[in-house]
Amino acid sequence: MSASAAVVGAGVAGRLLALKLRRSGYEVTLFDKEPASSLAACSFAAAGFLAPLSEGGASSEPLMVRLGQRSLPLWQDLLPTLPLPVQLGLKGSLMVAHQPDVSALQERFARLKRRFPMSPSEWVDANRISQLEPALAESGFQAGIYLPEEGYIQSHAAMHALQQAHSNEGVTSYYGTEVRHVAAHRVVTTQQTLSFDRVFDCRGFAARSDLKDLRGVRGELIEVHAPEVKLHLPLQLIHQRYPIYIVPRGDDIYAIGATCLESESLGPVTIKAGLELLNAVYQVHPGFRFAGIHRLVANCRPAFNDNLPQVHHQPGLWRLNGLYRHGFLLAPVVIDLLLRHLAGDELSDDERGIFIPGAN
Ligand SMILES: Cc1cc2nc3c(=O)[nH]c(=O)nc-3n(C[C@H](O)[C@H](O)[C@H](O)COP(=O)(O)OP(=O)(O)OC[C@H]3O[C@@H](n4cnc5c(N)ncnc54)[C@H](O)[C@@H]3O)c2cc1C
Repeated sequence: MSASAAVVGAGVAGRLLALKLRRSGYEVTLFDKEPASSLAACSFAAAGFLAPLSEGGASSEPLMVRLGQRSLPLWQDLLPTLPLPVQLGLKGSLMVAHQPDVSALQERFARLKRRFPMSPSEWVDANRISQLEPALAESGFQAGIYLPEEGYIQSHAAMHALQQAHSNEGVTSYYGTEVRHVAAHRVVTTQQTLSFDRVFDCRGFAARSDLKDLRGVRGELIEVHAPEVKLHLPLQLIHQRYPIYIVPRGDDIYAIGATCLESESLGPVTIKAGLELLNAVYQVHPGFRFAGIHRLVANCRPAFNDNLPQVHHQPGLWRLNGLYRHGFLLAPVVIDLLLRHLAGDELSDDERGIFIPGAN
């Protein structure tokens, strides 16, 4: 008989894990407190930027960069097996700056070359920028950094495709079902207590009462509808306060993000954040001036102290959390490692580092 697994939380981590467990032969039950149509999960706030290096060159750990680089081919392998189309753009990303911020861009480039000498990155001038991204031909950017091994995923489409794959492949899903307690071999909902061989807690920020060091890092993002803009590559604008990215989402929608605040507030996007994001994008391409505001999003990224993912475990219980700014980037590799850990495979020191024995 197949082993039974419960996955609690249907964000990107829970959805991907549920599918991978099912494909490994488990009888899988997935729980989420929100209805299936809800966009409340942090994963629906994500822009879908897959940027191991540009994120890593800023402040992240080299381990994040190494894991992120391994994740991109995993998305490439997975997407053709899903029942709905999901666009994955892996033609690179561009980092640009207006003239007053070019020195900050140069520092970024020097840091990237110093910290990640084996990872490709190219200093580009105005000609090369317009060759790589014709939509920026009139933008006036004189300098930039091209990172050929970065890209984006249509994150909402990926979430829907994973959900559809669950129904097609026999994952039992209980949306609109709040789980009160997640324990070894046991899931307690508002209605009943259920037993499983293995329980996986993927509740993101909501799991903080069971994961002492977990914190929320607020992020705000704006989606705009800009039919006059035809960007193909995700773009990062280096800016005095924090880098602002613009990620194409398809159908002329662009995600503009994101603030990064040490706050656990889930309140609406503030006027300050909105003005900063929109002001930055207004100067990137004239087509953004007449764009319509499509959606304002604020949520809390789940993060541990070192901003790296962790899997806390004890027999019968695994808590996967701390995907921070990189849920779409890191979920495939972290879940791959989790499945290898379950199968008893030998992991490298790097890989073992994300597993913390002794879940609550
Ligand atoms: C503004 C913003 C922009 C971002 N941009 C990017 C990006 O470009 N690229 C990238 O890789 N990452 C990005 N991220 C980060 C990414 O969104 C997160 O890392 C990721 O969503 C975390 O996924 P998760 O599955 O761990 O948690 P979540 O998405 O939070 O999922 C947790 C799920 O658990 C459910 N749940 C919670 N409590 C219960 C309960 N008691 N019972 C049942 N279900 C429960 C919730 O309803 C939810 O569906 C961004 C984040 C923000 C906020």
